[in-house]
Amino acid sequence: MIAEAIFSGTELLLGQILNTNAQSLQQTLASMGIDLYHMVTVGDNRQRCADAILQAAARADLIFIGGGLGPTVDDVSREALSEALKLPLVHNETALKVVERGWQGADMPEAALVQALVPAGGEVLDNTIGIAPGILLEQRGKTFILLPGPPEEFELMLAEQAIPSLQSRYAEEFGIIQTRVLKICGTGESYLMGVIGDLFKSSSPTVSTCVKGSFLDLSITAKAEDELVARRAIENMEKTLRKRINQFIFGADRDTLPGVIGRLLERKGHSLAVAEELSGGRLANMLLNDPLSARVFAGGMVLREQVPVSQALPAKLTRPAGVPESEAAKGLASSIRKLTGSSVGMSVLGPSLQELQAGTRRMITVGIDLEDEVYAEETWLWDNKNQADLCAAEMALQSLWQLLQKLV
Ligand code: AMP
Ligand code: MG
Repeated sequence: MIAEAIFSGTELLLGQILNTNAQSLQQTLASMGIDLYHMVTVGDNRQRCADAILQAAARADLIFIGGGLGPTVDDVSREALSEALKLPLVHNETALKVVERGWQGADMPEAALVQALVPAGGEVLDNTIGIAPGILLEQRGKTFILLPGPPEEFELMLAEQAIPSLQSRYAEEFGIIQTRVLKICGTGESYLMGVIGDLFKSSSPTVSTCVKGSFLDLSITAKAEDELVARRAIENMEKTLRKRINQFIFGADRDTLPGVIGRLLERKGHSLAVAEELSGGRLANMLLNDPLSARVFAGGMVLREQVPVSQALPAKLTRPAGVPESEAAKGLASSIRKLTGSSVGMSVLGPSLQELQAGTRRMITVGIDLEDEVYAEETWLWDNKNQADLCAAEMALQSLWQLLQKLV
């Protein structure tokens, strides 16, 4: 099955926004083994969009059209599809219900009613987080799928409506595709290539990596005619991978590092507090935003190296001058632990933004106080300019996870 994608929006052609929907679609189609040969971007022009649809229909079986489903005159996808296929736009009750629900009881202007129009014979794809319904239309042996432009709506409708619908219609074309993602920290792609490079050559299941900030996703994907066969192939590959790189695997699929740490700490009845300099609150934010780590997170504090800390704070929460970085990190980890009455304290000390930008210092120091033992570790940042704060928070979590692994 060959797919083609058309993205509608003048803002895309002018470079005002990045076409992130293209990436979501590309990744989804690739994971399903559907070939995507062409992607086209057109402005908000009905004729050019209709031409693009006809051109796509001449060389592909499955045509995705993203964006242009709003109620304004520059939203032209519905009309363009109707014009290209010579099908009238008709009022659709299911589409109207989606639109009405999207308005959540507010006064719906008449202009919104165009979103309840569907080319004759088209089916409605539900939009549970927005207003514009999507459309699936089978015509002349081709399948046309219209999805709304806002990325969250595009991705959700693609994953929960369009793909399942395609899978049920064309099961024999797709087979079963299953993916398991192993979450990796503490190593990089070059190292992995040396240790598991041979497995990347496997064609069933396939093994591939994707960089996610300081960490990596290692995906195992199997395509098979039945689910059991796919699952077995994945399990066997996972066993082989774990034999070689288990020390770097912190979780799988939807696991997050804060979540995994939260689970480990909770199991041991621990609570965690943090004092952070370079990460500027990012670490506390990450711990608080994951429901598993939020349960053990006792609190945090952001410090500035150069600014005198208020008299109200214990003196030890300042970074003492003239003390080696590792000692300062340990001291702060202990102070924040005691101040919050937690069982685990962690600190992140790092260079100033100026030092990072000048490239003169790139190491951070993570202090961890586990009550009976206090540790300090220096670690390197992969990003020293734009995302140093995020990177510092991720590296601190990595240090804590690695330490907890050793102690288990
Ligand atoms: P539309 O459905 O064309 O009204 O799009 C609504 C909004 O979604 C636009 O204003 C953009 O901000 C966003 N959008 C549309 N197409 C894309 C795309 N291909 N990638 C990312 N964002 C998009
Ligand atoms: Mg648009």
